[in-house]
Amino acid sequence: MTSTSSRTRFVLLALLLLNAGSAFSSDKLIALTFDDGPRPYVLFGSKESPSRPSLINVLDGNGVTATFFVVGWRLTPNTWGERRAEENVGITCISAAEQLVRRGFELEDHTYSHIELRTAERKRGEQWVLDDVNRGAQAIKAITGTQPRYLRSPDWILPDDARRDLERQGYSVLSISSENPIARRDVNSLDYLCAGRNPVGCPKPSLVGSVLTQIARREKQGVYTHILAFHELSTTAAVMPELITTLKSRGYRFVTLSEYMRLLGAKP
Ligand SMILES: [Zn+2]
Repeated sequence: MTSTSSRTRFVLLALLLLNAGSAFSSDKLIALTFDDGPRPYVLFGSKESPSRPSLINVLDGNGVTATFFVVGWRLTPNTWGERRAEENVGITCISAAEQLVRRGFELEDHTYSHIELRTAERKRGEQWVLDDVNRGAQAIKAITGTQPRYLRSPDWILPDDARRDLERQGYSVLSISSENPIARRDVNSLDYLCAGRNPVGCPKPSLVGSVLTQIARREKQGVYTHILAFHELSTTAAVMPELITTLKSRGYRFVTLSEYMRLLGAKP
């Protein structure tokens, strides 16, 4: 063997190892998602309760990107949230959404009204459901300039005919259904059960513990890519540092939903 060919072999081997390394690191993926916003008091932190951290600061501080499934009615002028239930921190939802986009986060469609769509279709017909989703998309497009591609319906409820029509229109619909391939199926964090004054339904021993258990169960099936479904809640923002640190230490990388789907699609 000449020294040239052995050098070539060495270079090839090194390239192979490098490739294997990058393939491994890109294989462990998390698409972190938050529904129901924009809620400025969650994104930027509460003035009334300084112990509630700003979700944007938590994500930025950890170098983590995420996707926000926002509700269209919030993206109307002079709207900062639900008057009785949410704190006004002096930032409108539109301004919050603009800041999310500027910082590299992704906005996707969680309908305009956030009404449960099976009941809505029964009462008002399929077209109303399609319009509600598209109205949500228009509100997002006014901010991002692009049509959202992903829909997560409230509580994952969507009548079959509307789903088919929205998919035909170009939407990818997120779901928790076992009909969906597991890597594309949402991990339901149940974080909304940990909010409020009396969170008796919050998963035991903890929200983070229960999400990690769900991930471990998926890993046992050979799945190392996960879409985690959370909500824009102060209680959720508070546990994000622990979750992010743990998942990073296990070799997970955080990507937007589009990037997640792109990488999944690129897999053999
Ligand atoms: Zn929701």
